[in-house]
Amino acid sequence: MDSFKDFNISNQLQYAIDDLGFEKPTPIQVKSFSVILSGKDMVGIAQTGTGKTFAYLLPILQEMKFSKQVHPRVLIMVPTRELVLQVVEEVEKLSKYLNVRSIGVYGGANINTQRQAVAQGADIIVATPGRLYDLVLSRTLQLKSIKKLVIDEVDIMLDLGFRFQLINIFELLPERRQNIMFSATMTDDVNTLIQDFFITPTTVSVAISGTPLDNISQYCYSVSNFYTKANLLVHLLKNKELYNKVLVFVSNKRSADRLFEVLDEQFGYEIAVIHSNKTQNYRIRSIENFNKGKTRVLVTTDVMARGLHIGDISHVVNFDTPSFPENYMHRIGRTGRAEQEGTSLLFYTEKEQEAKEAIEVLMDMEISRIDFPEEVEVSTRLTPNEQPRDDEPRSAYKKRDESLGSGFHEKSDKNKKVNPGGSYRRLIAIKYKKPKTRGDKNYNKRNKKK
Ligand code: AMP
Repeated sequence: MDSFKDFNISNQLQYAIDDLGFEKPTPIQVKSFSVILSGKDMVGIAQTGTGKTFAYLLPILQEMKFSKQVHPRVLIMVPTRELVLQVVEEVEKLSKYLNVRSIGVYGGANINTQRQAVAQGADIIVATPGRLYDLVLSRTLQLKSIKKLVIDEVDIMLDLGFRFQLINIFELLPERRQNIMFSATMTDDVNTLIQDFFITPTTVSVAISGTPLDNISQYCYSVSNFYTKANLLVHLLKNKELYNKVLVFVSNKRSADRLFEVLDEQFGYEIAVIHSNKTQNYRIRSIENFNKGKTRVLVTTDVMARGLHIGDISHVVNFDTPSFPENYMHRIGRTGRAEQEGTSLLFYTEKEQEAKEAIEVLMDMEISRIDFPEEVEVSTRLTPNEQPRDDEPRSAYKKRDESLGSGFHEKSDKNKKVNPGGSYRRLIAIKYKKPKTRGDKNYNKRNKKK
């Protein structure tokens, strides 16, 4: 599909697009349009810059009928005030020749002004969750007419701790509605939210290529536990000439802080950590210092690292093995940019072995393994997560949190299924339709060469 004409959009939308000077839809726009029009729940995996905002606005505006109704029909939730303003601006641009009323509401601004605006009536509300909830509780805003819910940048939203605010809002929405969600990265938290509240969603993504760049050398170490990984990292970082600009990825804030404690003791000012519990100023300063070479090592979570523009990274260290293989591709893509050579290291425990193999399946190559250095001490200290527990089956996906009460709408058949636990590899095999086991993979490779 090469042209907006293929969407059969209204003349009014086409004129607005012409005014914007857009010649053809972006890939995420092409993929999302018919799914959203069909009314199905949708999960879009796309980063900022892919045209994702218009990907959901186009079909929504295409369908929107003129109305004088006070209560909004479309709710778009985003994590920050800046994004509210940006999305409202995009709605305005696209609805230039349409009769659509949109309002942005967000915290940190006068609530009375927003109350008055909302009372005038709107078709589309763009909101941060906290302020939206306040407006609903004070009965200024009613959500009973919402037909479509869009949650944008949901990974950031969950990383900032908005899960319960989101769930509170879900409870106030009509059961019959379309859910649309966009996220740049797939995380366990995002996946849990989808499992709990979406009805057989169609996933649409501008797939990150599983083909790693040639100029990135990839190695992995099999390591027994968190603190042994920390010992290994300390050992490697002692070579300051080689490890001169190192980005270390961990999957959550707790691990980030825990690792920082160890590294800080050894290297002090050479190390910085960023995650969503750090203040914005601290984060900006840390990134600047890292960029300028003042700090040598930056520890970060996947979500926080999004949108960072950092050049000349010598090493990306995957301190945790990402459970979603695409995140590994995002991570290692931070090094080896602009023709430069880069190195990626992956530390995996026995528990993470399956996730590592899933990454290898995605790339269709094995990561070279380096033997664990003898001189590095193997730690017996365990993190709370690593303490043995005998009540939990091993599962890649978290179970539904029963404390949340009954769902606010009937679950789809798929979501009613009980997670049997078991092999992550099985899930990956279904997802990628690739070889199920390493044995199969080698078998396939051998066959390919024939
Ligand atoms: P987003 O990913 O939604 O943040 O969009 C990134 C930028 O791409 C925005 O400035 C949009 O105005 C622009 N954009 C969206 N769709 C198109 C398109 N089809 N062609 C060219 N630019 C676009």
